[in-house]
Amino acid sequence: MPLNGYKPWLSLDVGVKGAASIKHYLDKRHGYKAARKAMKMTPDEVIKITKASGLRGRGGAGFSTGLKFGFVPKKSKKPRYVVLNADESEPGCFKDRALMTYSPHLVIEGTIIACKAIESHHAYIYIRGEYAAEARIMQKAIDEAYKQDFLGEGVFNTKYKLDMTVHRGAGAYICGEETGMLSSLEGQRGYPKIKPPFPAVEGAFGCPTIVNNVETLANLPFIFREGADAFMKIGPKNNVGHKLYCLSGHVKKPGLYEAPMSITMKELVMDLAGGIVDDLKPKAVVPGGLSMPVMPWQEIEQEDVRMDFDTVEARGSYLGAAGVIVMHEKTCMVDALYNTVRFYHHESCGQCTPCREGTAWADKVLRRIMAGKGRLEDIDLLDSMAAQMVGTTICFLSDSCAMPIQSYIEKFRDEFEYFCKHGKSMVKDAIEL
Ligand code: SF4
Repeated sequence: MPLNGYKPWLSLDVGVKGAASIKHYLDKRHGYKAARKAMKMTPDEVIKITKASGLRGRGGAGFSTGLKFGFVPKKSKKPRYVVLNADESEPGCFKDRALMTYSPHLVIEGTIIACKAIESHHAYIYIRGEYAAEARIMQKAIDEAYKQDFLGEGVFNTKYKLDMTVHRGAGAYICGEETGMLSSLEGQRGYPKIKPPFPAVEGAFGCPTIVNNVETLANLPFIFREGADAFMKIGPKNNVGHKLYCLSGHVKKPGLYEAPMSITMKELVMDLAGGIVDDLKPKAVVPGGLSMPVMPWQEIEQEDVRMDFDTVEARGSYLGAAGVIVMHEKTCMVDALYNTVRFYHHESCGQCTPCREGTAWADKVLRRIMAGKGRLEDIDLLDSMAAQMVGTTICFLSDSCAMPIQSYIEKFRDEFEYFCKHGKSMVKDAIEL
């Protein structure tokens, strides 16, 4: 939907019948014009334009995409790979799914541009196991692109050869982490690896590899068609371009919303998503997907938090992949945390002691509290366990469990104390469900 005068370009086709076909993309969306243009440029020119646009990665870290392209060693004689991270395993996120379902050619076009930037001749799209239909749609679109010579030998009648392969995961959360994903792509168990070496230097099959999120690359056709300046002008400084926000939880209109990052959390939740179900009061929001620190609605309201990378971080959480999970006043925060921790315990790959043991013990302690057998000292026990899980492991999963523990306890300590003292939820006691 048009917002603040800007026309969407990422979600324009969401819900449109037949939008996944190459005919629709060529006839209605200036299809492949940007990739054609990029193919005539040198890799350095492609990198320069990407850097100039200010595009930051949409997978969670918000790192400059142009800078990332530039990390691939120019002198390496090894093959280079572009790997699209379509694992989208973070609970609360479903934007890449929509892009693959309705705009697979936008994703392929962005991939062609990324390949040109690093002189890669083979791209992989790693799609999570549960996205079976999306994998089929992507494969069909790739086949169509091959037929038109947009992929394969002599892309766009040039001498450039480019292949694209769909690889399906098996549904493990940890394969959304880039090194775990590369292990899985190589046919090994999806174990994350210690960095360095970083994938840009030694990634898939020991070769330089750029891993990008689907939404990130879907922005490239706009940038190469309309120009880096046009992209740069949208939204707040250092947080430019449109963003796909996934709204879920207790809102009246959950779904996918595209907006410049100047939009505020209040506008997203109360206007676009229609406010809270049954006209209850909002209580808390997880802004970037389940692993991000929770933000009480009171703080969001007071500060009118803008939904960009820098503002959300300055308010103590992260934009992540913009999986906005909204909770209303009847939500028991002890229960919400227990749910979160159980997920990360289940998904820990078990390589690192702080993660393997920390997630398991946090799960056990919370289960004790939920069973009405908690002790007041359990709250500090959880908090101190979480402190030891941050920054001590191979990948970010341990932190992803620890950050919610710390933030739920800090922001809603009274609910944890009540549960430990009375053996039942303060919220469920106060409001009849
Ligand atoms: Fe595995 Fe957890 Fe270590 Fe990540 S932090 S490598 S998920 S044990």
